[in-house]
Amino acid sequence: MTKHVVVIGGGIAGLSAAEALSRTQAFGRGELQVELLDSRHQTGGRAGSFVEPTTGQTVDYCQHVAMGCCTTLLDLLQRLELLSQFQRYEELTFYHPQHGFSRFRPSPWLPPPLHLASSLSSLKHLTGSNRRQIRSALWRLMRIQESDLIDVTALEWLQANGQSEDTRTKFWDVILVSALGDVPQRVSMAAARKVMIDGFAGARNASDVWVPKRPLSEIFGESFREPLSRRGVRFELGDAVRGMRWDEGSERWIIERSSGESRTADHVVVATPWHVSRRWFPDLWGKQAGLTPSEKEDWELPFASSPITGIHLWLDRSLTPLPHVVMVGTLAQWFFQEPIEQAEQSSRAEGVYHQVVISGRHAGSDWPKEKLVAEVVRELSQAFPESGTPQIRKSRVVTDPHAVFCVSPTTQGCRPESKTSRPGLHLAGDAVATGWPATMEGAAISGQMAAKSVVESLGQQVENEGIEVPVGLKRGWLARRLIR
Ligand SMILES: Cc1cc2nc3c(=O)[nH]c(=O)nc-3n(C[C@H](O)[C@H](O)[C@H](O)COP(=O)(O)OP(=O)(O)OC[C@H]3O[C@@H](n4cnc5c(N)ncnc54)[C@H](O)[C@@H]3O)c2cc1C
Repeated sequence: MTKHVVVIGGGIAGLSAAEALSRTQAFGRGELQVELLDSRHQTGGRAGSFVEPTTGQTVDYCQHVAMGCCTTLLDLLQRLELLSQFQRYEELTFYHPQHGFSRFRPSPWLPPPLHLASSLSSLKHLTGSNRRQIRSALWRLMRIQESDLIDVTALEWLQANGQSEDTRTKFWDVILVSALGDVPQRVSMAAARKVMIDGFAGARNASDVWVPKRPLSEIFGESFREPLSRRGVRFELGDAVRGMRWDEGSERWIIERSSGESRTADHVVVATPWHVSRRWFPDLWGKQAGLTPSEKEDWELPFASSPITGIHLWLDRSLTPLPHVVMVGTLAQWFFQEPIEQAEQSSRAEGVYHQVVISGRHAGSDWPKEKLVAEVVRELSQAFPESGTPQIRKSRVVTDPHAVFCVSPTTQGCRPESKTSRPGLHLAGDAVATGWPATMEGAAISGQMAAKSVVESLGQQVENEGIEVPVGLKRGWLARRLIR
C-alpha cells in the first residue's frame, strides 16, 4: 500500500522534510509518495530573494549566515551538493567607532572551549573588566543546564551574574540580538545558552561563518528542488492551502487549496510559519479551549514576532575588501559586501552592492527610509574613511516584521513537537521544539524530525530508513568534561 505524504510549506523546514523522506527505503520501494505544496511560485520561504526591477539583479531579501554549529543544515546542503554555494570564514571582523577593527579568530591550538578565550582578548573594544565578566559568565553558563534557564530572560540572568551595562552593550547585546533577533530583555537565557555554549563553545569550527555565494532563491529554489524531483518528489507551487480536515471515513486528510482544488493524504507535514500553523491547530500550540480575552492575549504574546531589516545599498565604490563586518556601537549591526560570485557576474553600472542588516526593534525603527539609509551610510563612511565619501546610486530598505519569532521564556513551553496527537499530522518549521531559535538550522532540524515522525508512524525503524536524528557538533574532550 502506497502512503501519500503531503508537505505544506516549501521553506527550509518543508524542503528538509521532503529530502529526508525521499532518502528512506520506504520511498525507494515505492511505499511512500511525497508531494510538497507552497503558496508561492518559489521554494525557500523566508530564505528567499527578490529581483531588483531597475537592474534585474537577484538580491536576497536579507543576508543570511549560518554558523559551523549548524550541522544539520550544512549536512543537508552537503547531501544535495549545495555546500559549495556557501563560503566558509574562520574569522570575524568586529568594528567599533572608537576602537576601530579587531579580528575574532578562535585559537587553532587550544582545545574547545578554551579556543574562544584568546579570541576574546583580541577584541579591542572590550576592556579587561569586560573580558573578565564575560569569561566568568561563560564559565557559569557552561555549568548550568539549558532546562534551568528557560524561565529567565537573558537580561535578568546577565544582571544577576555580574555583567555590567557596558559589557552587555558591547558584547552580549551584539551576539544575542543578531543570533536571536531580539533584545536580552525579551529573550530566554536558555536560547542564549544554546547559541553561546552548545553553539560556539563546544567544538572547533562551531563559530565558523558560512555565507551564501549565490542568491538564496537559487540555492533553496531550483537547485534544491531538482535533485529531489529526480528522486520522485512532486512540487506543486503557487496555490495556497486554505485549510485541512481529517476525514474519519477514509482516514485521510483532505487539504483544500485557494484554487478550489483539493488533495487527500495519509500524512501531512505542516511546515508553514508559526503564525499560519497556529491558526490551523491552536490546541497543538499550547492553547486551551475557552480562554478569556486576557488569557488569549497571553497566548498570542509568546509568539510575538521580531523584525529584521535589510538595507540594500548600491554605492559608487567598494568601501572595503572585507567580506563582512560585525558593527558594534552603531545602528548598523552587520555589514556585507556583495558575495564574490555575484559581484563577478553583476554589472557595475548600477553601483557596487552592499548590505547592512539590523535585527530587532532599534533606534531607527520608526524613521523614514531615507533617514535610515543616510545614517548607515554615514556610519560606513566613518568606518572606512580611506574609501572617501560614497555616493548612493540606489537603496532599498526591506523590513520583514515577522522575520523570526521572539524566543521569550514563555515561548519555549508552547513550542510543539513534530509528532502530534492527531493521526497522520506532523509539524515542522523553525518554531517547532528543536531548542534552536528561529534559524535555518532550527528549520532544517524540524524537517528531519517531522520525517522521522512520519516514518515511525508507518511502523518503520528510523535507523533502518536512513534518517539521521540531528546530533550537533561532537564536543571536544575538554568541552565534554566542562560543559554540563
Ligand atoms: C530578514 C531575515 C533574516 C534572517 N537571517 C537569518 C540568518 O542570518 N541566519 C539564519 O539561520 N536564519 C535567519 N533567518 C531565519 C530563517 O530565514 C528562518 O528561520 C527559516 O528560513 C525558516 O524556515 P521555515 O521553513 O521554518 O519557514 P518559512 O521559510 O517561513 O517557510 C514556510 C513556507 O510556507 C509557505 N506557506 C505559508 N502559508 C502557506 C499556505 N497557506 N499554503 C501553502 N504554503 C504556505 C510559505 O510560502 C513558505 O515557503 C532570517 C529570517 C529573516 C526573515
